[in-house]
This record gives sequence, structure tokens and C-alpha cells, in this order.
Amino acid sequence: MARITGPVCRLCRREGEKLYLKGEKCYTKCTLERRPNPPGVHGRVRRMSEYGLQLREKQKAKRFYGVLERQFKNYFERAAKARGATGTMLMTFLERRLDNVVYRLGFASSRREARQLVVHGHFLVNSKKVDRPSYLVNPGDVIEVREKSRNLAKFKARAEALADYRPPAWLQLDESKFKGTVLRLPTREEIDAPVNERLIVELYSK
Ligand code: SF4
Repeated sequence: MARITGPVCRLCRREGEKLYLKGEKCYTKCTLERRPNPPGVHGRVRRMSEYGLQLREKQKAKRFYGVLERQFKNYFERAAKARGATGTMLMTFLERRLDNVVYRLGFASSRREARQLVVHGHFLVNSKKVDRPSYLVNPGDVIEVREKSRNLAKFKARAEALADYRPPAWLQLDESKFKGTVLRLPTREEIDAPVNERLIVELYSK
């Protein structure tokens, strides 16, 4: 399965924004806060053309959600055909990915970790094992950590963090059972992502 590889803090430095790709470290020892300039020999900040800004916004969205080019374009094409504003629909598709939902429910400290946990088969959706991070959740779906996975050190460590965690309003969390329910699809205001989707729509509309 294709995935984004390489040093992830470089991606935040390239975008000039925290993309929260490394879990706890992003809150305690962020590389971007110490080295805010872009990677490269000189790390100079250049003035960007309109096209450059649109392209960077797309790259940022892809990196934030850990999605590769072809899949991202697929989401855009589906969003363009769906009813509603294309940019909002695009963000909704990205937000509905199972790896994102696992992260938003607090079962993983980053989307990257969530993706790995999903691929390793630790989650059930509506009582069936789903190991595809790109699975799109729907209202009413119940996502839970498999019973035999709950004793793993990774999940035991999350249990403590979950006690004080509040997921976004479109999700409901039962932390004692490692279970979450999709109450409805999120509104754009509820999607906490540093992305200006208007620029992405402009890019693909050229
Ligand atoms: Fe980005 Fe996290 Fe690295 Fe900071 S620590 S640069 S937010 S991945």
C-alpha cells in the first residue's frame, strides 16, 4: 500500500505550518518551532505566484491527511460531482477516512499512527474488521478497537489520554469501551484543518 515516507517534519517546514504528523512530539518538541524556515540549503522564502500558492495548498492538504496524488484527485472528482460546494465536499471526504476518524476519536496520537493501526487490523467497523485506511465512514457507523487488541501497550497508553479527551461534535466516544460512533457528517466549521480548499478548487478548475 502506497504511503508518504521520509522525514515528516520537513513537510511541515516546507508548508510553513504545523501539520501534526508526529503525535505527542508536535505538542512538546516541535521541529518547526525551532527551525521555521523551509528545508534546503538556504531555506529562503520566495514570493509565490498564484499557481504556486494553489499548488502548495493542495500539497498541504495531501500531507495533512496522508493521501497520495491519485487518491486526492479521486476525492476531488467525487466532490465535484456531489451535491454542495466542491471545496467543502472535498474536505468532508478527507475527514471521513477511517484513519482520520480513528485519530479524531483519540485512539491514535497522529493520523500516521492511526493509519498503521488500521492497516494492522486493530479496528472493527460495525463489528467487521476493516484494515483499509481510506474506508469512508457514514453516519451511524460504529468504530471500535478489537477486543484482543485492547491489551496492547499502545492502546493501554492511549486509555489514560482518552479520559480527558473530547472528540469533535460529529463523533461520540465511549472511552471505556474503546468505541466511537459517527453521529453525522461534519460541517466545514467542525473540520480542524489548516487548508484553504478554495485554492485547491481553483487549481483543479484551470
Ligand atoms: Fe510538524 Fe509535528 Fe514535526 Fe512539528 S513535530 S514539524 S508539527 S511533524
